[in-house]
Amino acid sequence: MLGASGVIGQPMKLTVLLVEDDDDDYALVQELMVEIQDLDVNLIRASDYDTALKTLLDADVQACLVDFCIGSESGVEFVRRLKAIGCTLPMIILTGAEDSGVDQQALAAGAANFLDKSGLDAERLGRVLRYACSPSTCTDQACQNLPSVGMLTGAGGQAQATDMRVLLIEDDEDDYFLTKSLLADIFGRHLKMEWIASWQPALERALEGQHDVAIVDYRLGARNGLELVREAVHLGCCMPFIVLTGEGNREIDLEAMRAGATDYLVKGEITAPLLERSIRYAIERRKAERHLAELAQIDQLTGLANRYHFREFLDRSIAIADRQKSHVGLMLIDLNRFKAVNDTYGHAAGDLLLRDIASRLKDCVRPSDLVARLGGDEFTIVITDVDDKATLADTAERILAEMRKPVNIGSCDVDVGASIGIAHYPTDADCADSIIVSADTAMYAGKGQRSGSFHFYTPEMHRRAAYRIELERNLRRAIRQQQFELYFQPQVNLSTGRLIGFEALLRWNHPELGLVAPGEFIELAEESSLILPIGEWVLETTCAQLAAWRDAGHPEVHVAVNFSARQFQNAGILEFVRRTLARYDLDPRLLEIEITESDILQKPAEAYRLLTSFSELGIRVALDDFGTGYSSLNHLRAFPGAIIKIDRSFVRDVEFAQSSRAIVQSLIAMTHDLDLKVVAEGVETTAQLNYLQNHDCDIVQGFLISKPIPASAINAEIFNTRLLPKAFPLTEEVA
Ligand code: C2E
Ligand code: MG
Ligand code: MG
Repeated sequence: MLGASGVIGQPMKLTVLLVEDDDDDYALVQELMVEIQDLDVNLIRASDYDTALKTLLDADVQACLVDFCIGSESGVEFVRRLKAIGCTLPMIILTGAEDSGVDQQALAAGAANFLDKSGLDAERLGRVLRYACSPSTCTDQACQNLPSVGMLTGAGGQAQATDMRVLLIEDDEDDYFLTKSLLADIFGRHLKMEWIASWQPALERALEGQHDVAIVDYRLGARNGLELVREAVHLGCCMPFIVLTGEGNREIDLEAMRAGATDYLVKGEITAPLLERSIRYAIERRKAERHLAELAQIDQLTGLANRYHFREFLDRSIAIADRQKSHVGLMLIDLNRFKAVNDTYGHAAGDLLLRDIASRLKDCVRPSDLVARLGGDEFTIVITDVDDKATLADTAERILAEMRKPVNIGSCDVDVGASIGIAHYPTDADCADSIIVSADTAMYAGKGQRSGSFHFYTPEMHRRAAYRIELERNLRRAIRQQQFELYFQPQVNLSTGRLIGFEALLRWNHPELGLVAPGEFIELAEESSLILPIGEWVLETTCAQLAAWRDAGHPEVHVAVNFSARQFQNAGILEFVRRTLARYDLDPRLLEIEITESDILQKPAEAYRLLTSFSELGIRVALDDFGTGYSSLNHLRAFPGAIIKIDRSFVRDVEFAQSSRAIVQSLIAMTHDLDLKVVAEGVETTAQLNYLQNHDCDIVQGFLISKPIPASAINAEIFNTRLLPKAFPLTEEVA
């Protein structure tokens, strides 16, 4: 029981003033007072408010029972007046059965409680008096010059720095009054209390994060207060919860802690010091927990949320969106040139860049959104409470505009650029995992496209991504099961009309799809590094084929092999090529290595160094698809090889476009000036052939002469006879 008298085991002595004009009601209260156990009440009566006021000033009264209505005067008004002059004496309003709506008026006026006289019994009256006069609410002086405490502060109540904002979630009025008076005693005028009696509104309010602490009844009507605590904590509520229970036992204690409550108190045992300690402890503990959690959730470099915090926040945002029928947006941001900056200028510059980008991203979103760094240059933003996709598009535009501005990394300014993949919940995903996958798919789909763009997820992207995954799996199997084959396309010397070599072109004999061209899988093989084992196989097979033709006594011709950038970045490639040639005892001049200009440009210095080494070994080096990339004369000058292959798009157009004719003509002239040989790719018509011959092209390759064919179809005739169309005069013959 509440320690009202301060002396445990002894009945509590109280002087109570009853303001009541009705004799019967007075008699009733008098009888009940006698019946109350544990209370020794000295009841004084005043029949009107003036007498009551005088009595209050003269006598040592500890509580006041005020009839709601004396004649034409209102008990509520009386309470309000007393409270207005600073009276802290607990006042309890007595109402009749017909006085509806008194409760709110009474509380608003500052009454400590109200009691319905009809059906009133000793037990209830005793309880209310005990609560009202517990040491925490009883003051020595009936009227002190203290401001009233315990006023309800609504949602809009402005809290001061020292204010204690308490959310009381309690469906029992008596317990409400008890707790309120204890709190009022502890925090005085700094108490800003809000009382909510039912589960759902209480949860909504708790989630708004406006209070310092919540005190929750274990029983809330048919529901359990712990369920509310659990739900609130799950939805990210950081406020500490103190649970009030009717009785205490170890099980409830454990259950409360597991639900996320900071403390639990047994109602009958609560005193002001106990409650105060519990509240202060709960708040401090939650603060410390939050600080620790923040440390564990922050990316130390940028101060943004880290991967763990991001995941928690996303889960929570989706749970809230489900409850509120709102939407969530997820953006994944890929910095286009971070790696280049890091590699070129060092890690310190990279760190500066990441910090700058982090603060720009933060400035682009609302405080309620979350910007996180997942690691490296991977950034992500969770946008909560999204209206529609158009809002997300606006935000993405804003971010891209920021990303376009140069970043100062100390010694200079660099351009980074970014691409963004966006997914929307619930349109594009049904859970946190799938929205991450969707945003990632959208970002991936945007890669390789114009830098500085954003892409919304579409189901089509998903199908493509799934196709790629399937393709990659199949490719791995193809390597294991040797489903690859090399086709060879003849290259013809325009001055002799004879075969001078082949280009080896990769084909995939897919068990179901049939023959698959490299356009379908080379790019993916490069991204997944599968190109390395494939490239080794191509080189090995080419060398084996060269040796086989040699052993069959065919005239020696070269075979050109396509290399990708990824293969060039492989440190052991030079040694591998050298050893393979040696194993088949081949003259290095029989091998040609083709690389495209754009592949060289990925790492020009390394590429040139490697190509020079190949040239020094005697291997022919060709620049493939010339004219489609940057095609600067400087690159051409620095090129360590001997052959330039003009891309087939120019060859195709020489018949129709003057511009293509001009380009081909000047390309040929330019390469000859640099002492390089020119191969024209994709020759399909005699008109093209004519043109190329008239402009001194050295070598041709194309369907007009032969499509790429398997080794089994290459016979002595191909090696030994003229391969140009019959009607076509040879350069030598023309000369
Ligand atoms: P590329 O190196 O430019 O090869 C020439 C492509 O043009 C070949 O396509 C060839 O079949 C095609 N072609 C040749 N003559 C004509 C013609 O007259 N008309 C038309 N329309 N096309 C013609 P393919 O075999 O589909 O190869 C495409 C690309 O795949 C190649 O372009 C090359 O970049 C790459 N590739 C092929 N094999 C390999 C390989 O073993 N390794 C690597 N890394 N890439 C390869
Ligand atoms: Mg090629
Ligand atoms: Mg080519």
